[in-house]
Amino acid sequence: MQEREAPEKGFRPHFPHFATRAIHEGQEPEQWTCQAVVPPISLSTTFKQKAPGQHAGFEYSRSGNPTRKCLEKAVAALDGAEYCLAFASGLAATLNIAHLLKAGDHIICTDDVYGGTNRYFRHVASEMGLKISFVDCSKVKLLDAAITPETKLVWVETPTNPCLKVVDIEACAQVVHSHEIILVVDNTFMSAYFQRPLDLGADICMYSATKYMNGHSDVVMGLVSMNSENLFKRLSFLQNAIGAVPSPFDCYLCLRGLKTLQIRMKQHFKNGLAVAKFLEVDPRVEKVIYPGLPSHPQYELIQRQCTGCPGMITFYIKGELAHAEAFLKSLKIFTLAESLGGYESLVELPSIMTHSSVPEEDRQQLGISDTLIRLSVGLEDIDDLLEDLNQALKAAHP
Ligand SMILES: *Cc1c(COP(=O)(O)O)cnc(C)c1O
Repeated sequence: MQEREAPEKGFRPHFPHFATRAIHEGQEPEQWTCQAVVPPISLSTTFKQKAPGQHAGFEYSRSGNPTRKCLEKAVAALDGAEYCLAFASGLAATLNIAHLLKAGDHIICTDDVYGGTNRYFRHVASEMGLKISFVDCSKVKLLDAAITPETKLVWVETPTNPCLKVVDIEACAQVVHSHEIILVVDNTFMSAYFQRPLDLGADICMYSATKYMNGHSDVVMGLVSMNSENLFKRLSFLQNAIGAVPSPFDCYLCLRGLKTLQIRMKQHFKNGLAVAKFLEVDPRVEKVIYPGLPSHPQYELIQRQCTGCPGMITFYIKGELAHAEAFLKSLKIFTLAESLGGYESLVELPSIMTHSSVPEEDRQQLGISDTLIRLSVGLEDIDDLLEDLNQALKAAHP
């Protein structure tokens, strides 16, 4: 697959271009009396009022903070959205979205979601009276069949984690919007650069900004973009009422990370594709799943829905757990750690690490076996990455 231009459609015309928006939107020097080019880290928790109730846009830092506002504006611009809200983590964003519902309401969630999302819906939201069904939303007929009169929210992640199944956002939006249901897309893996869920009909685009959006593995944060004023009002209320907001320093860091989102994603794609091609023909590898390879079963949909692919690769090493462990322990440049989407290459074993909270039988059904390895290919020199993989495969299969 080759990167292609993002289509210029959607609620707002995408102008100026992506990289320019990332660098300038919400960050105009004119908004500060000192004309700062880099938005200041606004640490004050409270803001002086001229008279009771008369303030200059900010009252108390949980309800609104100048640095956070800059970030929210920049992300909204990147998503072609009217509004964006930042939260203390991806899961805090998920929790705030779930609070749009009330006890008795039903959520349909893609079956192969991020382990923490699965755990939150299964063990927290369901305890609060929400009903949850896990459905393979890559089969739109199954999604359609799972909708009940109580269904109020459909949660889709695409590509899914870790099996990289792709969900057709446009098709889901069509099914969902014949009812009054909110469609949320977790866009963490693709980032705003490679996929625009709102343009494809989603109501809410959600990110764990901890991953590609910040991209430097030094911030935990969640972001939520939307076009509906009603949703924005309700989520702003919840952002303040629940209080799971990010710190001004984290907002500053994320804003800084966003400035290089485009060039980072381009390089993640280049390196990811090279690694996927290398693994695909390696005899010590059983199977490679990478959305940017023609061998991906949904390659056609991917080319239609996304403008490129990130550095996320899933593959099955030949053998059993012992081979996977030998491989993981032998890597020198890929770091054995959870998380993804940073400039550094990471590797992990979902069955024991990120997805250990997913029930065993579900893991089996999804194909999350002990030989399934997930790579987050970073921005190091590609020759070094390939050499590292090669020597670790050799250690696993001498
Ligand atoms: C990490 C992640 C989350 C959760 O985000 P946190 O920032 O860790 O709370 C949600 N969805 C996906 C796809 C993720 O990778």
